[in-house]
Amino acid sequence: MKKRKIILVDWAIGTEVKMINCCEAEDHGDKVWITRSEPWEAYGAQLVLLKGKSGGFDTSYLEVVSRRQCPRCKNSEIELDHKFCKICGLPLIK
Ligand SMILES: [Zn+2]
Repeated sequence: MKKRKIILVDWAIGTEVKMINCCEAEDHGDKVWITRSEPWEAYGAQLVLLKGKSGGFDTSYLEVVSRRQCPRCKNSEIELDHKFCKICGLPLIK
């Protein structure tokens, strides 16, 4: 049997990811998930645990969300639920 080629990722616990290219991605839209394990290989795929979700999720259906940055002061310590930049007060649009 031919082994499926997978792209291995090296995500630290707490990485913000988004679902892509799968039916679950459509269900969840742009929801950002936080990983709660390091990725591991299983059954020719690579799986990772997500907060709020049980069971491993195939990392090939996930992409890392790039950190948001304030366009004015370049503050990059912006959490996803922040509506304003905590440094300069600029309203942040998702
Ligand atoms: Zn700012």
